[in-house]
Amino acid sequence: MVVVGAGGIGSAVIPALAGAGIGQLTIIDDDVVELGNLHRQPLFRERDAGYSKADLALQYVQRINHFVNAEPIQQRVGAENAADLLTGHDLVIDGSDNFATRLAVSDACVRLGLPLLSAAAVQFQGQVGLFRGKPCYRCFVGDAFDTDDCDNCAELGVLGALTGAVGSFAALLAINSILGISEEQAGKLHMFDGEKLAWRTIGIPADPTCRACGSP
Ligand SMILES: [Zn+2]
Repeated sequence: MVVVGAGGIGSAVIPALAGAGIGQLTIIDDDVVELGNLHRQPLFRERDAGYSKADLALQYVQRINHFVNAEPIQQRVGAENAADLLTGHDLVIDGSDNFATRLAVSDACVRLGLPLLSAAAVQFQGQVGLFRGKPCYRCFVGDAFDTDDCDNCAELGVLGALTGAVGSFAALLAINSILGISEEQAGKLHMFDGEKLAWRTIGIPADPTCRACGSP
């Protein structure tokens, strides 16, 4: 399993997977800890400022469960390297904080035939979706955001309690999916409204003109 992003979503997903005894966990994040991250990224402490999030997340995993074979990768995922970084994993969990990365991850998953669990939270809204080829994440968001970091959490703000709730839901969905516990979740988007304190689920239609999963 691979987790892209050891930020707010990753801070909930990574400990949950390590505690559940996931055998192999790759953690990809090119960022270093900043003090302004700490309210939503409980993997890290004040003294971690300036250090690699991927390396610190690995240490956190090892403290929880040393049987987990965890590998940190300090790279930013983009269209040029996504396939290389993700290939060989059984599930990709994307908790990155920008659309360019999310779309690059999604496109690579479609090409490689890998299931993608995408999770995001910003302001008071969260969303979690599992994608298996078609529909894909690009069907959902379209092509407008490939170079856009417009939803960066550092700019718009997000409560740590929200990223925790959404990230924990994503971890649960990941475990359910791997173990086949719940009914098939692919193509459904679970949305959490942090003001109404309610989840709702919608179906995502495949876009026949999608440039990732649509017909050529
Ligand atoms: Zn698509």
